[in-house]
Amino acid sequence: MGFENKRIAIVGGGLGGMSFLNASLYAGLKNVQLYEQAPQFGEVGAGVNITSNANRVLDAFGLQESMTAKSSRQLPCYMEYHNYKDGEYLGHIDEFSYPPARLLHRAHLLDSLKERVPKSSLNLGKHLASVDRNEGNSAAPYTLHFEDGSTADADIVIGCDGIKSNVRRDMGFSDSPNYSGQVVYRGFVEYKDLPQETADLLRKTVNFRGPKRHVLVLPIGNKETQTDRAAVIGFMSEPLEAWDSESWMSRSDIDSLQEHVRDWCPQVQDIITGLRKGSPDGKMLKQALYVRDPLDHWYEMKKDQKDAGIILLGDSAHSTLPHQGQGTCMAIESGIALATILRHWKNDNLQEAFAFYQALRKPRTDKVTQTSSEAGKLASSDSPDQMTQNFNPEALGERMKWIMEYNVLEDLKVKGAEVLDFHDSRL
Ligand SMILES: Cc1cc2nc3c(=O)[nH]c(=O)nc-3n(C[C@H](O)[C@H](O)[C@H](O)COP(=O)(O)OP(=O)(O)OC[C@H]3O[C@@H](n4cnc5c(N)ncnc54)[C@H](O)[C@@H]3O)c2cc1C
Repeated sequence: MGFENKRIAIVGGGLGGMSFLNASLYAGLKNVQLYEQAPQFGEVGAGVNITSNANRVLDAFGLQESMTAKSSRQLPCYMEYHNYKDGEYLGHIDEFSYPPARLLHRAHLLDSLKERVPKSSLNLGKHLASVDRNEGNSAAPYTLHFEDGSTADADIVIGCDGIKSNVRRDMGFSDSPNYSGQVVYRGFVEYKDLPQETADLLRKTVNFRGPKRHVLVLPIGNKETQTDRAAVIGFMSEPLEAWDSESWMSRSDIDSLQEHVRDWCPQVQDIITGLRKGSPDGKMLKQALYVRDPLDHWYEMKKDQKDAGIILLGDSAHSTLPHQGQGTCMAIESGIALATILRHWKNDNLQEAFAFYQALRKPRTDKVTQTSSEAGKLASSDSPDQMTQNFNPEALGERMKWIMEYNVLEDLKVKGAEVLDFHDSRL
């Protein structure tokens, strides 16, 4: 049974949409098309940390080799903390579980996610404008309208179009995203552009913890493939001023980041110098950090049909602040859960399948969103006094353990025993 042959339309080909497409291949959904607004696939020029919980899923898709080829290797710990002012070591968090976190360029992750999907399922340059809910005996429950004037029919629509989702808006949600109070400055430093001692330090994931600010450095890639670089993310408190969109992203002068960290330790000054060396125009990415409150429900059913509906996945459903590195990881988990449920649901009642999916995922994604917000406060510090006192990286690690040790495939197997009609030896 299930919805194996239904026409499934994925809106959005970011890391969430592409993960769902991989999951649908893995699960055996037969009729899936992805629509991405951009004329070409692309990701923001930045690094990403994919943690154990999501790597378990990607490995099930068969992407381990492809991913590890472009990822960091054998990192000594999950994260190391240093004081912003004197660079003093404050403690570290050990890696959580196997497979370990993989740190890589976002474009390389996207490349891996593209590897196995048939080109015939990818539709680029398709900006979704609206979705028609067709009445009665029409050929399709839903018609997607794209800005180029083309249309596509679907039985099930998956809105993977990010925090600004048009699908979400089309479903009638009118809430606004919330500004977090912080912006992020993002850029890369080549190790050759750093003094040896700082380069050695930044071969680890390092967090320079400062007052209402922190600078996080992810050692992405590896030497073998010459993809190794220090991906810098400066989380800085700034007033919102004139920014009015959560997608606000532009290139900013590196000087603006330097203003924030002028009196920070020599290692951070080395990072600024390294950023300048790698940026001919003296600029880097700057993005205002937004998050939405969790939604009560993620789906809408077609009124006159029990096997048609629209559902949200990824940032459109469960956006989060990035302080536990989980936005993409949650989308990867959600993707395998939804695809498996759609493929193996025991009857043709889509509402029941969606409800089961939401009950499986929402408590976890709500909790990750909540604890990520809290982690952001812990990652920086309200006053210099709190910098070393009361700061306990071990406790920070304990707080995150439940996230990384989770196995969505096991959870599906246990909770889905009564409602899914399959025995998958891969699970
Ligand atoms: C500073 C920072 C660091 C982060 N670090 C991490 C990390 O280390 N680990 C982690 O797991 N997460 C991290 N995240 C979170 C992660 O980036 C997001 O959660 C993730 O990218 C969401 O993927 P998505 O596919 O749901 O949305 P998006 O990445 O926003 O993708 C949406 C896609 O939909 C397309 N689209 C939008 N509108 C339309 C339309 N109308 N029609 C057709 N297509 C459309 C867009 O072009 C885009 O391709 C970080 C986020 C930030 C801001």
